Amino acid sequence: MQLENRLESIISKVRSYHPDPDVAQLREAFAFANRMHEGQTRKSGEPYMTHPLEVMDIIADLRLDVASLVAGLLHDTVEDTETTVEDLRVRFGEDVAFLVDGLTKLSKFQFNTRQEAQAENIRKMIIAMSRDLRVIMVKLADRLHNMRTLKHMNPSSQERISLETMDIYSPLAHRLGLHWVKTELEDLAFRYLHTEAYYEIAEKVASKKRQRQSFIREVRHILEDLLREHGIEPEVYGRPKNFWSIYRKMRAQQIEFEQVFDILAFRILVDERAQCYEALGLVHNLWKPIPGRFKDYIAIAKPNGYQSLHTSVIGPYQERIEIQIRTHDMHKVAEEGIAAHWLYKEGKAVPDKDDQKFAWLHQLMEEHQDHEDPVEFLESVKIDLFHDEVYVFTPNGDVLSFPKGATPVDFAYAIHSEIGQRCSGAKVNGQMVPLKHKLKNGDIVEILTHKNQRPNKDWLSFVKTGRARTKIRNAVRKEQRERSKELGRELLDKELKHHNTNIRAWERSGKLQQAVELSRFSSVDEMLADIGYGKTQADKVTEKIYPPEAPEEKKREPDNRLGQIWEKIAHRGKTGVVLDGIGDVMVTYARCCNPVPGDPIVGFVTRGRGLSVHTRDCNRIDHLEPERQIDVRWSTDTEVPDSSRRSVSVKVYCTDKPGLLANISQSFSQAGVNISQAQCVTTEDRRAVNTFEVIVSNSEQLKRAMKNIEKIRGVYKVERITS
Ligand code: MN
Repeated sequence: MQLENRLESIISKVRSYHPDPDVAQLREAFAFANRMHEGQTRKSGEPYMTHPLEVMDIIADLRLDVASLVAGLLHDTVEDTETTVEDLRVRFGEDVAFLVDGLTKLSKFQFNTRQEAQAENIRKMIIAMSRDLRVIMVKLADRLHNMRTLKHMNPSSQERISLETMDIYSPLAHRLGLHWVKTELEDLAFRYLHTEAYYEIAEKVASKKRQRQSFIREVRHILEDLLREHGIEPEVYGRPKNFWSIYRKMRAQQIEFEQVFDILAFRILVDERAQCYEALGLVHNLWKPIPGRFKDYIAIAKPNGYQSLHTSVIGPYQERIEIQIRTHDMHKVAEEGIAAHWLYKEGKAVPDKDDQKFAWLHQLMEEHQDHEDPVEFLESVKIDLFHDEVYVFTPNGDVLSFPKGATPVDFAYAIHSEIGQRCSGAKVNGQMVPLKHKLKNGDIVEILTHKNQRPNKDWLSFVKTGRARTKIRNAVRKEQRERSKELGRELLDKELKHHNTNIRAWERSGKLQQAVELSRFSSVDEMLADIGYGKTQADKVTEKIYPPEAPEEKKREPDNRLGQIWEKIAHRGKTGVVLDGIGDVMVTYARCCNPVPGDPIVGFVTRGRGLSVHTRDCNRIDHLEPERQIDVRWSTDTEVPDSSRRSVSVKVYCTDKPGLLANISQSFSQAGVNISQAQCVTTEDRRAVNTFEVIVSNSEQLKRAMKNIEKIRGVYKVERITS
């Protein structure tokens, strides 16, 4: 019966701000939660249901909507009873189920860390995970009630929970502009974390309580009379600052309680903006202002939209007092505003990029002013703060933040570069995932490594962090160089066969070193790598030792094994980016036929320009040495790196009709083809020839675009140009 009475008194509180609450649903939720928690008790020995009820009461103080109130009543049912989220969905609807689900998920994490950066990440993660502002606000209500009843817990839990409150929940309340929640959480946590200091301050504030109250009354009357005399009708409030902020000041400035200025803070609320300045002038005329303490946050509002005049003066009895002056409207934003306080007095500047992200919230606040019903406003608030970051966990529970779209490979490199280099697989929330899997907020990520694993060039196409990118690039480059050296060695060895010797003999005789010097390389490795890359020809090197003056010695056997060598080398390690079978040799695309991925192709080992790739039907290949020809294929990897996107020319013959050009462009873009250049020539007989320079990923894409263009009325012919 006691519980029911409590429920009814909370419901009347709800009625005081909510025009038409669904009382039946509130009562039903209460009955349901009461039934589910039946028999459970709190540490204090009270029925468990007292907790959800008091949480609901705090939610009413936050003036939240019915779904939030219901979620407050039910917030522990999924975690602590047989109830499922599905049950709640059926009984109380999608909204409530969503909120309770979010709260249950949040409660799964224990945040017991002191590391500042970590705490900041956790706060962001909570916001990002919650998505709906109400989840966080209900969570804060839950925490506030737990803090209010913390005396029933054992000392070690008290300390852990208080630390967590100080590190995570009070800053979170601060961010959201829930000023009174923040200060209450702080003072409660303060009590358990620095018990002696807390009671010392509490006592000192209380010892002169009567005195202080009469002082507050006196100042209030002086201010009210002063302003009324000048035609301003003010509201004046005075109160001691919260204990924690007094303590912080004492600690930061290394001073005693008695030396702390402005233990008392007064607030003057007026109707008009101009009256704020008028009131300020009157106050400064009456009491001596303390230099350097005046701040005009009206002319220059805080980035979060907070507006007020702040000053400190030496008041009656030489007491220093702080005075804030603002309009009722400004006050509403400052006190009730969801984010109105989020930058306020945090002791550090919040980076601009965060500010940007909250910009929409300020905008919402402005729209909020026009809302007849604040409840309606809250019901529609859904959030996606920090939408370009994700927060994930290591198996040990550490939080790491990444740019959105980051993958397990980014994660692996963030842990340690060695783990990145050896990363062979990943589990997310216990499930195996591909390495290019995109991480989501709250994921628990575990990296599998293998000693033979090497960074793969493909990884570059999906990693999101600069760190991973740089490390992979360096590793790939190193490996590429190793392979080029190997290839160069084989090519040189092969060339030396024409001279009836081999590379080992060259090494022994010192000829290799000699060739390096004569060819002006700085080392053997550099020369071999250059030959492997195709930048230098092997025969140019041998010529240095065996000048071509003896042509009969150079009777070449047909070079039909060249291809085999290429293949043999290339299959040792696959990077598979562009051409299967050929790793990372220098590749050029022949200009005559301009092949794009998907075209049938053939490769030629050039003198000094690496591998040249032609289409199979290119008529230039008949003129090339057949023994230099090798078989190549396009990579079968589905993701084509940007570097292999190719430029192609397409000619479209059509009638000279307005709008046709737009249709053609559209057909290109529908096929995913970008136009980089277009040229239109009209002829006398009202015909037009349009030449497009387009960027394509593969021939399929190009064919699709061309087919679509052919279908356009007025188009006669579409052709791909090869010069
Ligand atoms: Mn709870």
